[in-house]
Amino acid sequence: KLYNLVQDLKGSIRVYCRVRPFLSGQPSYLSSVDHIEDGNITINTPSKHGKGRRSFSFNKVFGPSATQAEVFSDMQPLIRSVLDGFNVCIFAYGQTGSGKTFTMTGPIELTEKNQGVNYRALGDLFLIADQRRDTFHYDVSVQMIEIYNEQVRDLLVTDGTNKRYPFHYFSPFISFVKGHEIIIKGLSVPDANLVPVSSTSDVIDLMNLGQRNRAVGATALNDRSSRSHSCLTVHVQGKDLTSGTILRGCMHLVDLAGSERVDKSEVTGDRLKEAQHINKSLSALGDVIASLAQKNPHVPYRNSKLTQLLQDSLGGQAKTLMFVHISPEPDAVSETISTLKFAERVA
Ligand code: ADP
Ligand code: MG
Repeated sequence: KLYNLVQDLKGSIRVYCRVRPFLSGQPSYLSSVDHIEDGNITINTPSKHGKGRRSFSFNKVFGPSATQAEVFSDMQPLIRSVLDGFNVCIFAYGQTGSGKTFTMTGPIELTEKNQGVNYRALGDLFLIADQRRDTFHYDVSVQMIEIYNEQVRDLLVTDGTNKRYPFHYFSPFISFVKGHEIIIKGLSVPDANLVPVSSTSDVIDLMNLGQRNRAVGATALNDRSSRSHSCLTVHVQGKDLTSGTILRGCMHLVDLAGSERVDKSEVTGDRLKEAQHINKSLSALGDVIASLAQKNPHVPYRNSKLTQLLQDSLGGQAKTLMFVHISPEPDAVSETISTLKFAERVA
């Protein structure tokens, strides 16, 4: 018990892995995943000498048949801790097509049953806030941004331009504005619209707006969403109705850009620049989490926009979940191994 408490106060880093099912109904024996047992996953690695195997261990591994509800229920305590004033970061990492957006948002044909973590998390926060209404008053507001080529864009704009906006701050708990940052008692957030929400339907509307803005300029061949990081940030302020004490927590739900390595001999120009930005920011994120996991006194936050933005919510008492995603196709095995190695390094 005491140990758990100390762990809690120190913050924590967890690593989960999820394997996407085959999309074309291939039988599971074709999968590059040999087996999953508790937190262990074993991958079949083709090699010159025939079949090899490599195992990795994480806090949790979800197989291809795991449902959205199962995945969420495992993350629920972490998400609820935001209401107790903790800062939480959840990252979905993996190659394009491995299921990051499916986990965080859901499939394109969204139903209540296949909703991803973002919707469920907000729904759950409203539910708990309501259960505590006799003792606490909670204000919840959200921001949605995208980081593309190391530039931050606000996704909650209504003029369809997906560019910086003459900002309106709706939040009842903004303390002051300094330059381009808003300071919420020690926590800085980018100057993107911060929109108060009070129901799941508010959240659905905003997420739809964010998705639409994210797609601006994208074509089927040039799907920018896989080459940018998108981040839904939920700010929660809770007031204890008896003592008047105020707790603030913040949660970042991040759908990262695809982690696949791009062959430098094959791409040029903009595509190469994008690839270099992605590469740099994902390795910067890996470096930050690895140094936090090793309790290294120097944490290199300044090496990317993403880690700079999340600095206040990574480390200290904050709780971090690195959720890596892998594709089952044998073709993807080298990306799968590199994803699992990334995860192993930050665990
Ligand atoms: P990413 O965001 O990593 O590029 P997506 O989430 O878009 O990948 O997933 C690629 C495709 O696989 C989508 O059609 C998605 O609906 C489907 N998919 C991903 N994960 C699952 C899953 N666990 N169960 C069913 N379909 C999935
Ligand atoms: Mg995606």
